[in-house]
Formats: sequence, C-alpha cells, structure tokens
Amino acid sequence: MTEATQQRTAIVTGAARGIGAAVAQRLAKDGMKVAVIDLDESACQQVVDQIKSDGGEALAVGCDVSDEEAVNAAVERVASELGAPTVLVNNAGVLRDNLIFKMSADDWDTVMNVHLRGSFLMTRAAQKHMTEAKFGRIVNLSSTSALGNRGQVNYAAAKAGMQGFTKTLAIELGKFGVTANAIAPGFIVTDMTKATADRVGMDYEEFKKAAASQIPVARVGYPEDIAAAASFFCREENGYVSGQVLYVAGGPRD
Ligand code: NAP
Repeated sequence: MTEATQQRTAIVTGAARGIGAAVAQRLAKDGMKVAVIDLDESACQQVVDQIKSDGGEALAVGCDVSDEEAVNAAVERVASELGAPTVLVNNAGVLRDNLIFKMSADDWDTVMNVHLRGSFLMTRAAQKHMTEAKFGRIVNLSSTSALGNRGQVNYAAAKAGMQGFTKTLAIELGKFGVTANAIAPGFIVTDMTKATADRVGMDYEEFKKAAASQIPVARVGYPEDIAAAASFFCREENGYVSGQVLYVAGGPRD
C-alpha cells in the first residue's frame, strides 16, 4: 500500500452516542478502522455493530478518559487489535452546569477532568503512534460556549482550554506530520442539549425551535454536521490545515 491509501486507525472518545457516534461512523465510511471508546464498553457495541454491518472494521473499548492507567491501556489495546492509532477525536464530554455561586468544586473538577485531562491523556498516549508513523490527525471538540455562556463557567473554561491545547499541539507536533484542529459546535441535537432543556424546564421541541430562531441557517445542528467537519480535518490531503478552530454553528462566531 502507498502512504496515501494506507488504512488508518482512528480513536473516537465518547463515541457510544451523540456526536462521537456520528464521527465514528463517518470515519469508518471514510475507510478508517475505528476504536469506539466510551465509559461503558457494552454501550459502544451498537455503534460497532452498525459500522461492521456497513462493511467497516471497529472495536468497542471501555475507558474513562480521565483515568491515566485506563487511557494508556486502551490506546495500547487499540494499537494491538486494530493497528497504531494515528487519528484521534477527543469528543468525550460532560456538563455540570450551574451559576458560579452555586457551583461545587466537584462540578468544576469533573468538567475539567473529562474535557481537559481526558484529552491530554488520550493525546499523550496516541501521539507516540502518530510521531512514529510520521502522520497524525487530532481533532478536539470545543464549543461556542468557549466564548462565554451563562451557567457554564466550568464548561466554558474547559472548551476555551481545548482551543489553547489544540494550537499548542499543532505547534509541537507539526514537524511529525501531525495536525491538530478544534471543532466548536453550536446547538447540536443530542442527549446533552436534551439534558439542558430538562434542566431549564423546557420542552425539547420548544427548546430546539427557540435555538433555531437565533441561528442564521434557521435550523439546529445534528451530529452528522460535526462528523462532516471532523472528516475534513482527518483527511490525508489536509496536512496543511492545523491549529484551527472551526465553528460549526450555522452562522459566524467571534
Ligand atoms: P453526549 O450525547 O452527552 O455524549 C457524550 C459521550 O461522552 C457519552 O457517551 C458519555 O458517556 C461519554 N463520556 C462522558 N464522560 C466520559 C469519560 N470520562 N470517558 C469516556 N467517555 C465519557 O454529548 P454530545 O452532545 O454528543 O457531545 C460530544 C462533545 O461535543 C462533547 O465534548 C461536548 O462538550 C461537545 N459539544 C456538544 C454540543 C451539543 O450541542 N450537543 C455543542 C458543543 C460542543 P455516558 O453516556 O456513559 O455518560
């Protein structure tokens, strides 16, 4: 196989559902072998089965991305069972929303640990395989909340942190053929936005309608919208796009 047609192995975290599941399916359609990582291994099986029934290759891996030993073991398992992972999508995420005067230190730490520590640990473990292969694609999930969002000091700080993390990875790893980019989604229909509607006591359909009325393309986003952006960043030919933050939000963001 030539370098350009070599089959790559991708890791997608938080891929049992939502955006991660769509990204995993899209990268498999693009021809990659995909490790579907989430907290509960059995929860990943449905996505793995779907990829396999579409003719792809996938592996379910249970791993808490904030657990150093579990991450190192998961990445090594992927390397031995699917091949060296040279594509990584750091997507696992949680919300612990509250106004600052009511936010507990645990809620702060949980959000930092999953988004920032988790992305750091996964990337540190995977970059070894990327630098050895002289090829890598890292995609980190930020959010429009990085620009500030009421009730989300923890999440906004973590998602702004993901942008600095991404730009620094791009600078450090570029010479090894590794790119790092961030996607900052706006409103995407997943369990996460459903949970936010529940928290503010709104019917989800009404919540989506209200969101769409503020979005220039006049609709809410879907996991496939984010998967399309991830697919772009992960392509072999896109080795000159690095350190970028792409807002995928149905309109411009500053
Ligand atoms: P989701 O539906 O809540 O899915 C998140 C997944 O991450 C879940 O399967 C969850 O597992 C998993 N996860 C949580 N903690 C984990 C951990 N420590 N280790 C491994 N997996 C873990 O969320 P989503 O809406 O698809 O969001 C995906 C990413 O996009 C997140 O980073 C989110 O912050 C970002 N984002 C989403 C939106 C949006 O509108 N939905 C907008 C901007 C950014 P469990 O089910 O077991 O908890």
